[in-house]
Amino acid sequence: MHHKRPNILFIMSDDHSANAISAYGSRLAPVFKTPNIDRIALEGAKLNACFCTNAICTPSRASIMTGQHSHVNGVKTHHDILHSSKNTFVKMLHKSGYQTAIVGKWHLFSEPKHFDYYDILTNQGRYFDPYFLDKDHDWHDIRSIHENEYGKRHEGYVTDIITEKSVNFLKTRDKNKPFLLMCHHKAPHDDFEYHPRYEHMFDDVLIPEPDSLWEDKSHRSMASRGYGTTVSEKNSARNAVETMSRPDYPTGSLKVEGLSSDERTRAAYQKYLKDYLRTVKGIDDSVGELLGVLENEGVLDDTIVFYTSDQGIFLGEHDYIDKRWIYEEALRMPMLIRYPKEIKAKTEIDNIVSNTDFAPTILDYANLSKTDEMQGCSFRALLKGEKLDNWKDILYYRYWMHMAYHDNPAHFGIRTRDYKLIFFYGLPLDANGALPEATPAGWELYDLKKDPFELKNVYSQPEYKTTIKSLKCELFEIRHELEDEDRNFPELLKRLEQTD
Ligand code: CA
Repeated sequence: MHHKRPNILFIMSDDHSANAISAYGSRLAPVFKTPNIDRIALEGAKLNACFCTNAICTPSRASIMTGQHSHVNGVKTHHDILHSSKNTFVKMLHKSGYQTAIVGKWHLFSEPKHFDYYDILTNQGRYFDPYFLDKDHDWHDIRSIHENEYGKRHEGYVTDIITEKSVNFLKTRDKNKPFLLMCHHKAPHDDFEYHPRYEHMFDDVLIPEPDSLWEDKSHRSMASRGYGTTVSEKNSARNAVETMSRPDYPTGSLKVEGLSSDERTRAAYQKYLKDYLRTVKGIDDSVGELLGVLENEGVLDDTIVFYTSDQGIFLGEHDYIDKRWIYEEALRMPMLIRYPKEIKAKTEIDNIVSNTDFAPTILDYANLSKTDEMQGCSFRALLKGEKLDNWKDILYYRYWMHMAYHDNPAHFGIRTRDYKLIFFYGLPLDANGALPEATPAGWELYDLKKDPFELKNVYSQPEYKTTIKSLKCELFEIRHELEDEDRNFPELLKRLEQTD
């Protein structure tokens, strides 16, 4: 039976917003196409409500590997390590006879276990001449886990190198076994260093702005208003205008002399988007190459191809760059899946799924059951087109790394089909790397049916009183189910009691 199990190609990029994939049809689709990534959706499924449970790299990757939320697998922030003793779906696939491989960004700091082959970027990796760690690396060699420059240096552009290593694995694999290949790109993470071959793709193109680039945030609670990294200079300490104007900015310095404040915002937005989309173009070309190799090897239809990203990113929406917030653009993961044996072309799934559901789903396709410790559920049946009455359709989210790097206060909340309820608790608690200073606590509510872009916080509007009451019940119920009740943090529980 084992030889009939499907191969799995899991392609994951870093900080790729669904809005920067033309299959998702955002404002960017008229000026930027991703035909190869789109092909996965056209010949397979597109998930419209796939979300991460903690919108930063390391925690999202740990949730994907373990099927668990951050507070359970212990990886709440970039300063936490996924311990090699943890059970992962890769361990289970490997044990059951899959040939397993990972190439590219790992970012979980421990040695990748249960992979027949690994060749991973050192830490975050660099765009040009990156360093890689493979089985020759001495994992007892203690250095700063956040250093990018040790291991084996490779000349060239990171996306091309990861593609080449992935292609090499596909061509030289043990053809008697099904394979799992995790191809994890560095792009389009900051600082958006693109290959020179993409230099001229946006000459004379004006990238459409989101209306919310100019959002007046007075509708927000005091708990989120004024925080987060902006495109404009509204966050005086951290913003794209300032960062991109530095003489040493790697893709070239933004020229702002003589421009008004609004003009500087517009110029920084154009540069940010153009640099970012050029790195995405590299990813799309890579996906095309990988699909082509599977086709040439005669295994494309025997392989489940996943395309996703560890979380989304703000591309100027709400005047933000970066991610971390529970707001849609960071929360949403693109997820496209091609497997014509079970998934009809142009399938669209509106059910809510999360990164904790990936491990159970992949195991399900390999005829393996998830363990009880995995908190997610398989969505294989949804992909087949079955309607599941008991599907949960609710997401629990938590961002722990209070105020670190990009000024985002710690918060948790739920996303249902129609609403998003957020509690900003604004405390570091025990999260590694969180900053000590408390920020104001507060609630926000968005009515997503009426306000899909989250431009109007309606928490204090009387007509939502009943809705808020029932959403709070759902929030506390899911926190109970997932065992994230903060019993050890009375200072947080006090803030919950004191706010209303
Ligand atoms: Ca990321």
